Amino acid sequence: KRGTADIVVYAGERAAHPTQWLVVQAELRHALERDELVLYYQPKVRLADGVVCGVEALVRWQHPTRGLVPPSDFLPAAEQSGLIEPLTAWVLRRALADQVAWTEAGRDWTVSVNVSVRNLESPGFAAGVAALLAETAVAPSRLTLEITETAVVDDMASALQALRALAEIGVGISVDDFGTGYTSLGRLRGVPLTEIKIDRSFVDPVLSQPQNQAIVRAVIALAHGLGCRVTAEGVETGDVAAWVMAAGCDEAQGYLYSKPVPWTQVPMMEAIR
Ligand code: C2E
Ligand code: CA
Ligand code: CA
Ligand code: CA
Repeated sequence: KRGTADIVVYAGERAAHPTQWLVVQAELRHALERDELVLYYQPKVRLADGVVCGVEALVRWQHPTRGLVPPSDFLPAAEQSGLIEPLTAWVLRRALADQVAWTEAGRDWTVSVNVSVRNLESPGFAAGVAALLAETAVAPSRLTLEITETAVVDDMASALQALRALAEIGVGISVDDFGTGYTSLGRLRGVPLTEIKIDRSFVDPVLSQPQNQAIVRAVIALAHGLGCRVTAEGVETGDVAAWVMAAGCDEAQGYLYSKPVPWTQVPMMEAIR
């Protein structure tokens, strides 16, 4: 289908359990129909003053018998099967509705939503997001889309086009898990980024492994050079928070401040420090 001059990453895990895979897909389709997905939110803290400046929406599946299923157990199936499209649409709709409620409660938070590269490649994605923003009357600058670096992008041109269209209307664009994927700097050129998130695997051991300090410092310099905010992910201790703040990180996220929590617990996270 792709022609001959192409290399495709083959997911071995998937081949190992083909039946299980199909079961997950079928169940996930039902989950979407029965409204079994839920969003948890994790605060993002501005390091300069310790104030919550935003929340990241993280999806979970409230399974009738298996309990709360983490995204790692069903997102790969959703991505491979095309169910990621209705899933992301559901997440965006839910997150923007919650955003409306927070704004009414006087909180000027930005909501961050994780988006798969598959979404960006799908025609009409940018227009769909714009329509949802208009429908909910959420200011585009109050929404940030987090894009994870991915090895395989079938259609980089249309993904870039979607990102540019969204940036143009004022939606924030964030590169998630920076440093773990395969994004070359060349690929980032031309992407209108507002934020870079340094992956937890560099942040967590930053005090014990000097090499990580050099990497984190370099990413901060790169991000600021590109005019982006920098967020440190996976901050679990005060010492790490102090280090990333001293190194110039703008924002932080992690268990030190809060684990992802259900919507009902979110308004309590106002002054976290
Ligand atoms: P992510 O976007 O990098 O999200 C951060 C993950 O790290 C979350 O796991 C969060 O619970 C966890 N985390 C946050 N702070 C800490 C910390 O201090 N220590 C540790 N050990 N972990 C921390 P979660 O919720 O299981 O999500 C896993 C991944 O699933 C996310 O990684 C994201 O890539 C993906 N994901 C989640 N929700 C969505 C969604 O709605 N759409 C898409 N496309 N992907 C999603
Ligand atoms: Ca994320
Ligand atoms: Ca991340
Ligand atoms: Ca991650």
